[in-house]
Amino acid sequence: MNLRIGEEYEIMLQNLRRFIKKEIIPLEEKYFMEDEIPWEVRLEVRRKAREAGFYGIHMPEEVGGGGMGILGFVLLVEEINRHETYHFGADIYGGAGGPTPILLACNKQQREKYLLPLMNVEKATCFALTEPGAGSDAANIQTRAQKDGNDYIITGTKHFITGSPHADFAMVFAVTDPEKRARGGITCFLVDMDSPGITVNVQNSIIRDGLAGEIHFDEVRVPQENILGEEGAGFKLAMEWISHGRLSIGATAAGVTERMLRKSIEYAKQRVTFGKPIAQRQAIQWMLADMSTELECLRWMVYWTAWRVDRGERCRAETSMVKLFGSELVWRAVDTAIQIHGGMGLMREVGLERMLRKMRALRIVEGTSEIHRRTIAREIFEKEWRWAS
Ligand SMILES: Cc1cc2nc3c(=O)[nH]c(=O)nc-3n(C[C@H](O)[C@H](O)[C@H](O)COP(=O)(O)OP(=O)(O)OC[C@H]3O[C@@H](n4cnc5c(N)ncnc54)[C@H](O)[C@@H]3O)c2cc1C
Repeated sequence: MNLRIGEEYEIMLQNLRRFIKKEIIPLEEKYFMEDEIPWEVRLEVRRKAREAGFYGIHMPEEVGGGGMGILGFVLLVEEINRHETYHFGADIYGGAGGPTPILLACNKQQREKYLLPLMNVEKATCFALTEPGAGSDAANIQTRAQKDGNDYIITGTKHFITGSPHADFAMVFAVTDPEKRARGGITCFLVDMDSPGITVNVQNSIIRDGLAGEIHFDEVRVPQENILGEEGAGFKLAMEWISHGRLSIGATAAGVTERMLRKSIEYAKQRVTFGKPIAQRQAIQWMLADMSTELECLRWMVYWTAWRVDRGERCRAETSMVKLFGSELVWRAVDTAIQIHGGMGLMREVGLERMLRKMRALRIVEGTSEIHRRTIAREIFEKEWRWAS
């Protein structure tokens, strides 16, 4: 068993550290007290990241990606989050509005029209599945796509869709066969966001970044050739690529937890109470000992699961475990860091309250903690799941 990170990843990480220092940290400092970032500034970061080879690093080389696989991707995401990144971290690889492996299902024409411009930062996208009446139970979506000659007419509402206010096209999941639903009755369409009948309202979440939105489809006409993959195969398509999102959250959590640990150690060494640095108090030391122990567990869970997914293993329970454990750990880590910083931890200029807001969202997005526990339990009880040997 060789548990060393390969040389190609080491080189990528060294280049990434340089890129973050030169291009990202000055911008983070400039926009430190802001919540909403001008879209043009984000696009500029994406273009620079594209030139440097980080944007779409997880996509295959034949579509202009870095061909780094999921292990390379999680290493990159973890590294980004180890640094003082608040706003631009996800723009480096694309994040929710950027390239996603689901789009590898594009046919030749769709690749030219949607995927390649996306890879070149000429277009942005969004993933539109969730609806007001269907979140955790995504198979219950009500948005309908009815056939009309060679077109489909889409009607319905999606909400909480990250990237939708700036997207040029959306991956929209709609019911094409109400009898079959998740078993062959949900189809994914590539929909141009300037199509007549579409309206988008910005929804400001806890992160207040203006990136999520509600999309209304009022009899939007979409040509049949805009079906991604096959008719009825939309749900299967979304599930096939689900591990990327889950592992990305695990890697984000690992990077941010390390950052919380470092910040807390630095602060504890210099903050003196009752004549001694608080770092010398066992109460503080044990908080940091627990945090570093859990970080070590998470980090190896992320690497090991990513490595297995790259080898084509299913890992449905394991990716849920990573997402569940990571999102809950990082929440505790930020909370602990605030506790160690005392009142200072609640001041905006320290940045911890922002991380608390950002990391709180991780227990909801990409499936809630309860839904991941449900998935893990199902795998344990119903599938022939066994511990990796
Ligand atoms: C900032 C943000 C960005 C998002 N971006 C996107 C995006 O880009 N694209 C997209 O499609 N979606 C997106 N989402 C939607 C997100 O995936 C959903 O919010 C999430 O899946 C939960 O769905 P819900 O909000 O409807 O909660 P609900 O499903 O209504 O759940 C409410 C509560 O009930 C619990 N619960 C539900 N069912 C069960 C059960 N069977 N057993 C036990 N507990 C249960 C849940 O865990 C939760 O605690 C985003 C959400 C947010 C907040």
